[in-house]
Amino acid sequence: MTEKQIQCSYCARKRCFVGDLSQAPDFCPTLTEKGIIKVSKEKLKEPENQKMAQDVARTWKDYGKLTRIEETVLYAKLQGHRKLGVAFCVGLAQEAELFTNLLFNEGFEVVSVCCMCGAPSSDDVALPEEEKIMPNIRQPMCNPIGQAALLDAEDCDLSILLGLCVGDDVLFIKHSKTPVTVLAVKDRVLAHNPLGALYTARNMYTRLNTRKPKLDEPKA
Ligand code: SF4
Repeated sequence: MTEKQIQCSYCARKRCFVGDLSQAPDFCPTLTEKGIIKVSKEKLKEPENQKMAQDVARTWKDYGKLTRIEETVLYAKLQGHRKLGVAFCVGLAQEAELFTNLLFNEGFEVVSVCCMCGAPSSDDVALPEEEKIMPNIRQPMCNPIGQAALLDAEDCDLSILLGLCVGDDVLFIKHSKTPVTVLAVKDRVLAHNPLGALYTARNMYTRLNTRKPKLDEPKA
């Protein structure tokens, strides 16, 4: 890691939060990448982006009182969205039904599409037999590209991801023409709360190594 490598994770004070960069570290991108920061701020002032950013700030008005689901509904209403797409994992089918009910009850048009749409299998992506969970048995595959295309075709204003597997979410976001937000991500071990692994990482028996590596660390 070079001295100037952007590494906000290791910034001790994060003074950008209060708009004071006087004690920022050498690797602070606000100081080292002024051109990129300037262009990003100009883009933020473009009418559509500015309205989106304002609506994010408006969801903060009742700070700490709204759940992510309530914030998602509020943001969609502030944006004037009429039709919402829900792209869900088959493993979260019950949650998808409840969430779809909620969105209908909030007055939206809703389209929901399961990750198994098109019924693909691992054979469709030429996964070798020995890399299947159980060789010689049909292994279902997700179709995130199909989910994205179906929600695009429905002219949804916003696609909401609910529990897609890691990587399937990448494929969905890569191919979606509709703006995307993530309500929940898949974690088969931690009740879809991946940060639980970090919250418990300081326990003696954790299998995650979250100790700070011995790198050529920039001055914080
Ligand atoms: S390095 Fe700069 S941008 Fe990053 S957290 Fe610190 S003050 Fe903020």
